[in-house]
Amino acid sequence: MDKAKIWFMDARANRFLESTAIKGRQILEHSGWLDNLNSGDIVAVKTHMGEAYNVGYLRPVIVRTLVEALKERGCRPFVTDTTTMPYHPWISRTLAIDHLETANRNGFNQGTMDCPVIIADGWLGTDDVIVDLEGRGTHLNKQFVARAIADADAFISVAHFKGHPAGGYGGALKNIGVGGASKRGKMNLHGALAGDKPVIDVNLCPGRECDWWETCQDCCPEGGIQITDKGLEVDQESCVYCFACANLCINMAGKGAIQRFDHLPALGRRIADSALAAMMTKEEGKAFFLNYAIDISPSCDCYGWTDTPIVNGLGILASLDPVAVDKACIEMMNQAPGLINSEAEDFDALAPGSKKLNMIKGKDVEAQIYGGVENGLGTTDYVIKEVPLDRSQAAIAKFYPEIRAKKLKPMYERNHPLSNLDTASFGKTTEGVENPKYPKK
Ligand code: SF4
Ligand code: SF4
Repeated sequence: MDKAKIWFMDARANRFLESTAIKGRQILEHSGWLDNLNSGDIVAVKTHMGEAYNVGYLRPVIVRTLVEALKERGCRPFVTDTTTMPYHPWISRTLAIDHLETANRNGFNQGTMDCPVIIADGWLGTDDVIVDLEGRGTHLNKQFVARAIADADAFISVAHFKGHPAGGYGGALKNIGVGGASKRGKMNLHGALAGDKPVIDVNLCPGRECDWWETCQDCCPEGGIQITDKGLEVDQESCVYCFACANLCINMAGKGAIQRFDHLPALGRRIADSALAAMMTKEEGKAFFLNYAIDISPSCDCYGWTDTPIVNGLGILASLDPVAVDKACIEMMNQAPGLINSEAEDFDALAPGSKKLNMIKGKDVEAQIYGGVENGLGTTDYVIKEVPLDRSQAAIAKFYPEIRAKKLKPMYERNHPLSNLDTASFGKTTEGVENPKYPKK
């Protein structure tokens, strides 16, 4: 496999046009990928619109700016994500209606995006297509891909690169592998269809003396949990391994009677297989991956909070290869110094060169990468090409279609804001200005 090309712009910004949102569009256009699209192509713009109260997800303007580039090419973009399994009892994205309400609250809607915002797997997460991986998957044979993503002519993954509790890290592979899977696709990639279950220790459950027993019983979508005065009963046969009960029991009740979340390395390889399934719905060259390595928190945007970043913002990395772009982000992150007052400091991962997330998570977080190489989705052999910022007047015109300050001249001629004022009477002269000239209008 040839080296994958990665286009890169760094995260620093101190001059006009150096916005992260503008850089994202300039990378997209510089890459030439838009030439692979035809006028009228429906393009899924897949991003994570954030769990309720998370504040680390990508800002809506970053996504909107890419949508504008697609529309200028005559494409029909829609911004999209999928329903969750759930993962805990209060999850705010498990039905399309919940997800759209959360997205709206987080700043993603038709008005802000200037295109439809669609939950790609439908009301209950069952609108999907089954993709046969044709023997290429290391852990999955078939996967459910959300229908709106599968049916689109092309997709752009707009991913926030950061850590992730179960997958180790989140980037392009997770954005498409998890976020491109329908609800039952998520059950599949988390191992439910392969028979994975939570680990139960009934001896740790005090039954109805637990403050959370009613929530515990009611949050199981299968009705598989019964809490009696004597304790806990779980119908493991019906369990679809959605983590709602385990999250409640560990994190709220503090008991651990129900525990075990899906874990690496199997999860990472299933995510890579699921990403491959999403890619198999597209003709070659019809998928593009933008990773925004900014606000690099140790956990995911599916949490209802956001910790301080573990390293400074790195920049925007883009590629046609989701494996390469994730690997480049991980290596760039590891080369950076860790930040104090973050999990990098908590876990002694401040030194440049330290494997930040491996140290924070206490495991090798690159299982998604290994899986993506093993299933043939991509390569870890890449070359980085720095993209220069285009400061030309034509470039400015894309983002600022008018020079708006020009509007003021005729208006000031008609009605100047300082007209008929004794301007000298409004305050003291600035120190060091010897001959003040007061405007007379
Ligand atoms: S028993 Fe299984 S299906 Fe029910 S809440 Fe727990 S993990 Fe989900
Ligand atoms: S949350 Fe845990 S301890 Fe509480 S009722 Fe459920 S299983 Fe028992």
